[in-house]
Amino acid sequence: MKLHFHGAAQTVTGSMHLLEVNGAQLLLDCGLFQGRRQEAYARNHNFPFDPKSIDAVLLSHAHIDHTGNLPNLVKHGYSGPVYATPATADLADLMLCDSARIQESDAAYLNYREELRGAQQIQPIYNVEDAEAVRPLMQPVELGREFEPTPGARVRFFEAGHILGSASFLIETQEKGKTTRLCFSGDIGRRNLPLLPDPLLPENVDLLIMESTYGDKPHRDPEQAYQELRDIVLQTVQRGGKVIIPAFAVGRTQELVYNLHRMIDAGELARVPVYVDSPLAVNVSDVFKRHRECFDQETWDFMQQGRHPALDFDGLTYIRSVQESKQLNEHREPMVIIAASGMAENGRILHHLKNNIEDPRSSIVIVSWQAPYTLGRRLAEREERVKIFGEVFYRRAQVATIGGFSAHASQELLVEYARAGQGQRHGIYLVHGEERSALPLRQKILETCPSSKVFYPVLHENLEI
Ligand SMILES: [Zn+2]
Ligand SMILES: [Zn+2]
Repeated sequence: MKLHFHGAAQTVTGSMHLLEVNGAQLLLDCGLFQGRRQEAYARNHNFPFDPKSIDAVLLSHAHIDHTGNLPNLVKHGYSGPVYATPATADLADLMLCDSARIQESDAAYLNYREELRGAQQIQPIYNVEDAEAVRPLMQPVELGREFEPTPGARVRFFEAGHILGSASFLIETQEKGKTTRLCFSGDIGRRNLPLLPDPLLPENVDLLIMESTYGDKPHRDPEQAYQELRDIVLQTVQRGGKVIIPAFAVGRTQELVYNLHRMIDAGELARVPVYVDSPLAVNVSDVFKRHRECFDQETWDFMQQGRHPALDFDGLTYIRSVQESKQLNEHREPMVIIAASGMAENGRILHHLKNNIEDPRSSIVIVSWQAPYTLGRRLAEREERVKIFGEVFYRRAQVATIGGFSAHASQELLVEYARAGQGQRHGIYLVHGEERSALPLRQKILETCPSSKVFYPVLHENLEI
């Protein structure tokens, strides 16, 4: 058996690992690498293996850093099954088509900026047609059900508590009479997150591949995040400003909506208009409403008590059309606008930032991890001068960062996860984390369980088991 760390190695995005067992090739995630435009283009464009040689793909969840390069894989000849939970399959379909549109406009932008002509022109990594070609390959599998994607590799998805439909994998392999239990955590969620059940811990595995996004620190409590959001909205409304929140269409947007709903329902916040301005987020919210089986007990109780759905309330408007989106700028009164993209790299959020960034009454609220060099990271670092659509703006709006909304486990839960999983025979491999978070996590795991072997593999490192 061989394991190759082909993505999210010593960085967060681009999750992709290749497992070779009994001569078959199993791909764990097929994510898009995000970062500097040209580097990202090169990394995503070429696979370090032949896509035709892959036998099956397993997806941990729908986030684009775990699924976003699937259309490119299919474009390069992959035609096997893509296993995912039913909610992930539905969400991934929406995400990939949206990602394709972004790839198309990114390529067009590069061609324009570099004045490339004819054969020099950069082609999008994939287009909408390529994204749609993934749809028939999707094989939904419920959490807890065992299946065998390739001979001698039995897989079970279990709750990861990260976003709707998210799963970790337990893979039990049989090769040359030897059994190995391998766990791939995917992205690990947190306890008490709005809407979602808590993540389950792995048990007694021989090899553990786990994420380490926030391995360096504890998070603030989700309840504290709720209070911080409420206070920012209250203060901004009092100043007569707008609350602008760049948010991922999947997960964060729905959590924010659910929390604002709870605030208004509890009378903690006067009714303020809330807009979800992103066709993708609107479609994704519809998938959430269809997959209520993924909600936790608390959300079911909330829906039962109030006799209303979790993701709809008076004063909340889901916006699809460009026309309606533009009209929001004409409204002068306070409001909350939640729009994609989550790292403020593209999408409608850019227009809202552009229109409000120089208004000291308004607030920009950062509610998730921001990749280096993205506009979101510059805002989170409170840079005073930023470029939007190539134009320079002086930031006068307040910036608030709310860490407690993270859908990722904090150091404490990651250490608990590592202890539960052990990786006794072959060790624990930390992926999906920058050095500044993975190394302190490694240290902490070693302090807590001195006998563990903890590794931090580099890109394309491989391991013979
Ligand atoms: Zn994720
Ligand atoms: Zn991720």
